[in-house]
Amino acid sequence: PLVLGIETSCDETGVGIVRGGTLLVDAIASSVDEHARFGGVVPEVASRAHLEAMVPTIERACREAGVRLEDLDAIAVTSGPGLAGALLVGVAAAKSLAVALGTPLYGVNHLASHVAVDTLQHGPLPEPTLALLVSGGHSNLLLVPDITDDVRHLGQTIDDAAGEAFDKVARVLGLGFPGGPHIDRAAREGQVVIDFPRGLTAAKDLERHRFDYSFSGLKTAVSRWVRAKQEAGEHVPVADVAASFQEAVVDVLTRKALLACREHGVADLVVGGGVAANSRLRALAQERCDAAGVTLRVPRPGLCTDNGAMVAALGAQMVMRGREPSDLGLPADSSMPVTVVSA
Ligand code: ATP
Ligand code: MG
Ligand code: FE
Repeated sequence: PLVLGIETSCDETGVGIVRGGTLLVDAIASSVDEHARFGGVVPEVASRAHLEAMVPTIERACREAGVRLEDLDAIAVTSGPGLAGALLVGVAAAKSLAVALGTPLYGVNHLASHVAVDTLQHGPLPEPTLALLVSGGHSNLLLVPDITDDVRHLGQTIDDAAGEAFDKVARVLGLGFPGGPHIDRAAREGQVVIDFPRGLTAAKDLERHRFDYSFSGLKTAVSRWVRAKQEAGEHVPVADVAASFQEAVVDVLTRKALLACREHGVADLVVGGGVAANSRLRALAQERCDAAGVTLRVPRPGLCTDNGAMVAALGAQMVMRGREPSDLGLPADSSMPVTVVSA
């Protein structure tokens, strides 16, 4: 099926078009530069930018894919979770298209889409697959028997998301927003020489929070370490701090993901979400999966951060599985749970 996907949960207006499991085009307009000076995404600014970018981005996607709107078999859209006003713009656009074209509408979960996007690169997901979802607002371990219908929660962060920790630590180090790519780059010039804490890995934490994460203690430890240097009038070794912080994050992420694979008897791990673009996470995950006999699947970095192709990918999987479309009363659900695949 030829499916167009619309993503507007945060600051990227994404429109992707897929044919079955094949990506045709992934068009993105971002308002990130308008938010950078605030050090975070400003919801009102994001909604207005989506409104302005929506129609031109749909037109550009169709043009680049050589597809006419009338050719589409389905429209998919992120119905949640995300910023309410931003989601509404995408949902309204998708409903309008579905009504005008008479095509089915699929309201899908943004987080499930971060996982489903991997089908565009590596084919259908093995069933079950274990998913490590690490993004700006979420850090979850999921057992996925069927990405179109059955996503189970194993654990999540009890405080900050992994991406949020990257963004906050980048700020402490005076690097730009969003912080993940800056830390990734800085860390390549540094050494892992500072032993920062690994949240929820002590024996007693592993009992109660076996597959949960915690990054706020790590963020505080990095801030304290940097402030102590500054107050002593000493030079802050930014690259070493970045490398040491990054290692602490990816060590815990991969350790618990592989523990979950082993304990749930799953031989395939997919990593998704913006933080999955991190080069050290990709390398360490590969190393540990190889050692454990687990097959690793990580989409290319451009598909890890928010985009429309991921929504189209999940929509196409739903069509191919014969899932029911959404009705036109489809809501934008800013707090849609990760276990609800479609609305
Ligand atoms: P959510 O998906 O939870 O709603 P989001 O959509 O805002 O949140 P994504 O676009 O999936 O988040 O990911 C953005 C996050 O990914 C940011 O926190 C950013 O710093 C982080 N990120 C992007 N590239 C990298 C990288 N190379 N290394 C580490 N983090 C990265
Ligand atoms: Mg973004
Ligand atoms: Fe996202």
